[in-house]
Amino acid sequence: MASWPMTEWLKMELLTHTQSYCAACRTAVPAQTVELNGALYLHSDCPACGSRDTLVEHDAALYRRWESSRRPNTAPENSQKTAERGCPFDCGLCPAHRQKSCIALIEITDSCDLGCPVCYADSGSGSFLPLKTIERMLDSAVESANGKPEILQVSGGEPTTHPQILPILRTAMQRPFKYVMLNTNGLALQDGRIDVAELARLGNGFEVYLQFDGLNDRIYETLRGKALLEEKLRALNLLAEHGIPATLVVTVRRNLNLESVGELLQFAIEHPAVRGINYQCEAYFGRNPEQGIPEERVTQTEIVNVLSQSAGSLVGTEDFIPLSCGLASMVYLEKINKTWQPIPRVLSDAWKGNPLTASVEDLMEAAAGACLCKGGPILEALTKRLPPDLLSRSIEERSRLVHDRFFHLTVSGFLDDWNFDLNRACRECAHVLQPDGTKIPFSAYNTLYREMPRV
Ligand code: SF4
Ligand SMILES: [Zn+2]
Repeated sequence: MASWPMTEWLKMELLTHTQSYCAACRTAVPAQTVELNGALYLHSDCPACGSRDTLVEHDAALYRRWESSRRPNTAPENSQKTAERGCPFDCGLCPAHRQKSCIALIEITDSCDLGCPVCYADSGSGSFLPLKTIERMLDSAVESANGKPEILQVSGGEPTTHPQILPILRTAMQRPFKYVMLNTNGLALQDGRIDVAELARLGNGFEVYLQFDGLNDRIYETLRGKALLEEKLRALNLLAEHGIPATLVVTVRRNLNLESVGELLQFAIEHPAVRGINYQCEAYFGRNPEQGIPEERVTQTEIVNVLSQSAGSLVGTEDFIPLSCGLASMVYLEKINKTWQPIPRVLSDAWKGNPLTASVEDLMEAAAGACLCKGGPILEALTKRLPPDLLSRSIEERSRLVHDRFFHLTVSGFLDDWNFDLNRACRECAHVLQPDGTKIPFSAYNTLYREMPRV
C-alpha cells in the first residue's frame, strides 16, 4: 500500500519508532508502528523510494496487550559477528541480537520433490550438503549454545530427498538437542522412499514437523500445486502406527484455509500422532514474493481471533501467551476426562522455556525458582495433574505422558519485504545454520541473505 491520505493520518496513533528494510535500495529506513481503525500498521519512509504503509496486525489492542506482557528476551549465549553496519546487515548472530536460538534450522538441500508455489526457499532441483559439512555445522550450533542447544529442525528444500537423510538424522540425534525435527512435506514417508520404521528407531526426542495445510484438496492445489490430502493423511497415519509424534505446520491464507483453522485444530487434537500444530501466516518471500495482496496478509492476531470464534470451546484469545520473539503466541491444551482445555494461566505463565520442548521438568524448575507466592500455586496445579512418582519414571514414560496429555498450539508470523520491523527482527528465535558456523535469523535470511553464495 502506498502512504495514506491526510484524512487517515489525522486518525492514527503513533505507537513506536523503529526501522524497516527497503528491499528496493537495500538500506535500513526509518519507520513507525501506528494504530489506525483498530489495526496495527508499519509506516516506513525510504528517502529514495518513498513511503509505504503495511498492515502488521489486524487487532492492535490484542497485540499491544501482548507487547506489555511479553516474556523478557534471553540473549544468545555467544555472538559470532561484530556489529559493523547495523541491523539487519550484521547477521551471524551479532551482539545486538536479543534472543537466543529456540530453533536452529539446517537446510541440508535445496532440492525438492514437490515445488510448491508458496515455497519460502524457492526449492526445486538442487545440491546436497555433504554429511561432513552438516556434522561441522551441528557442532558449531552446539558450541555456540554452550553445549545446551534447544530444537534442531532438519529442513530444505525437502530433506528426505537427501540420499543420506537417515545418517544425517542419526548424527543429529547423537548431539544434545532437546528435540530433532524433520521438516517434511511427508511424500517420501507415505510412498515408502523413507522407511518410517527407521525413523521410529531414532527414538525419544525425534519428531516430524509435517507440512499439513488443511482437510480439502482445494487448499493443496492452491498452496502446493496439486491434490495431496490423501498422501498427507497416509503419512500421518503411518507416523501414528510407528508412535512418532508429529507437529502439523499450516501455511494460512485468507479465503482458503484461514476460515477452517478451527476445524483443523479439532482434527489435530483427535489424531493420535499429532502433539501440536503451528499456524503460520503466509509470508511473501522465496517463490511467493508477490502472490496474494500483502496489504491483506493474514496476521497472528487475526488467526488467534478466528480460532477463538471457530473453536471457542477449545481456546479463547485470552489463553494465548505472547512469546518473547515477538513473532509468535502459543497455548498449551490439556486433556482432562477426554476433553481438551487450555492449561491454567498459572502453569502457562510459568512455562518459560521453549514452547516446543516444554517439559514437566521445566515446570518443576519454574516452580522451584519462583517466589513462594507464585511457586506454590504452580506446584499445586502440577501435583493435581501429574502422577506423584513422575520423576522416578523413565524419560520415555515422562515424554509419553506429556505427549498424551498436552497439545501445543502456536500461531506465528514472519518478516518479509513488506512488514520488516527491526524491533522484531532482532528478537527472532528461529536461526538458520550456515556452513561457516554462523547463524542468521530466519526472516532476515529469507529477506536478505538467502541468495548469497554458500561457503
Ligand atoms: S537480525 Fe539480529 S543478528 Fe541480524 S543484524 Fe539484526 S540484531 Fe544482528
Ligand atoms: Zn528504498
